[in-house]
Amino acid sequence: MPRRIASHKIPVDRISRSAIRVVESLRKAHYETYLVGGCVRDLLLGLVPKDFDVATSATPEEVKKVFPRARLIGRRFRIVHVRVGREIIEVSTFRKQIGPNDTSNYNEHEARDGVIVRDNVYGNIDEDAFRRDFTVNALYYDPANNIVLDFVKGMQDIGSRTLRLIGNPKVRYQEDPVRILRAIRLTAKLDFTLEKSTEKAIAPAGESLNVVPSARLFDELNKLFMSGKAERAFELLQKFNLLEILFPLSSDATDLVTAALYSTDQRIAQEKPVTPGFILAALLWNHYRSQYNALATIGNPQEKQFDAARTVIQEQQHTIAIPKRHAFFMRDVWHLQSRLERRTPRSIRPLLEHRRFRAAYDFLLLRARNAEVEPGLAQWWTEIQTLNPTEQQEQISALSPQKKKRRRRPKRENA
Ligand code: ATP
Ligand code: MG
Repeated sequence: MPRRIASHKIPVDRISRSAIRVVESLRKAHYETYLVGGCVRDLLLGLVPKDFDVATSATPEEVKKVFPRARLIGRRFRIVHVRVGREIIEVSTFRKQIGPNDTSNYNEHEARDGVIVRDNVYGNIDEDAFRRDFTVNALYYDPANNIVLDFVKGMQDIGSRTLRLIGNPKVRYQEDPVRILRAIRLTAKLDFTLEKSTEKAIAPAGESLNVVPSARLFDELNKLFMSGKAERAFELLQKFNLLEILFPLSSDATDLVTAALYSTDQRIAQEKPVTPGFILAALLWNHYRSQYNALATIGNPQEKQFDAARTVIQEQQHTIAIPKRHAFFMRDVWHLQSRLERRTPRSIRPLLEHRRFRAAYDFLLLRARNAEVEPGLAQWWTEIQTLNPTEQQEQISALSPQKKKRRRRPKRENA
C-alpha cells in the first residue's frame, strides 16, 4: 500500500493548467490518472518543472479516444502526446516490470541479453511505480485531492536529496543503460547525492552503454549538456570512466572542453540561446586538428578541412548519432577558426556577416583564453564588432600590407 501524503509543499499555482486538464479529462472517462515523474519531483523541491508527465490506467488507444487529436509515439516505449495549446503533455500507461526470463508477453515486452528493447506490458499503479528508475521519480500526484502517493519511500529521498535506483542497481542499469546517464544528469542538475549502491554499480555497467542505439544516446547527452549543470555532469562522466566509452576520440578532456561547458552553463543561467554543437565542437576540436594536419600538406586547404571534419564526425557517429544540423554547426565553427586567424582584409566583412560568426567568435575567445591563439587576435575581433562602418574600414585597411612601391626598371640604354 502506498503512503498517502497530504502535508507536502507542492505549490499548486506552479502546476500547468494544461496538465491538470489532461488528468481531469481522463478521470472523467473513469481512468485512474496522476501527474508523475520529474514534474512531481521538481515541484516538491521548489523547482519549476521542465515538462509535465501523466500516468494513467488508460491504454494508448483509450487515451486517443479521449483526445482524438493526440499522437501515439514510440515503439520501444509507446506513449501518447496530448497537445493543449502550445504545451505537449506526455501520457504513459501504467506498466509493469517483467522478469528477465519471462517471455510470455513477447509481443509487448522483449529483452536481449538483459537489455529491455520493448517495454509495453501494462499493469496497475503500484507495478508502475516499481518499474520507474529512481525513487524520487516514482511519486504520483493527485491534483483533485492534493495528495502525493509514495510506493518506494521517495519522499524520504526528496528530503535527504538522495538519488536512489529502485531495485537492484546492477540489474536496473543492465536493463536500460541510459539510466546511467540519467543518474548523472539528475545528480548534477538537482545537486543530489548518489546513494552508495546506485553509485557503485555505475562504472562496472559503463560498457553496456555501447548497446544503446546511437540516436537515443544523443538525446540523453543533449539533455545532459543542456541541463544548466553540464560542467558538473561532465566531471561525473569522467569520474565513472564513461568518457572513453562515449567519446573515444577525446577521452582526455581539455581545458577548452571545460571552458565550453562552463560557458554553456552560464548562458543557460542568463537565458541565452545554447546548442550542444558548441560543446561537441570543443570535445572533438583536437581530433579535428590532428586529422587536418595528418592530411598531406599539398592540396586545397579548404578541401582538407572538409575531409577532416567529415572523418571526425563520422567516427564519432559510431557511438553518438549527431543530427545533421549540429554536425554542420560544428563544421562551420571549425572552418571559421582559420579564417578568423588569417584576417584577410577582403574576408572581414563577409566573416562579420556569416551566420555562424558569433559562435565561431565565442569559440575563438575560449581558445584565446587557453593560449591557443594570441590574445591580441581575439581582442581585435572583439573591437571590430563595436565600431561603425567607417571605423571598421579603417581597421581593415590597417591590416593591408603596405602597397609595395613599384621598382622602376632601369632604362636600357640604346646602343
Ligand atoms: P526531466 O523531464 O526533468 O528531464 P524526468 O525524470 O521527468 O526528468 P522524463 O524523461 O521526462 O524525465 O521521464 C519521466 C519519468 O519516466 C521519469 O521521472 C521516470 O519515472 C520515468 N522514466 C524515464 N526514463 C526511464 C528509464 N529509462 N527507466 C525507468 N523509468 C524511466
Ligand atoms: Mg519529464
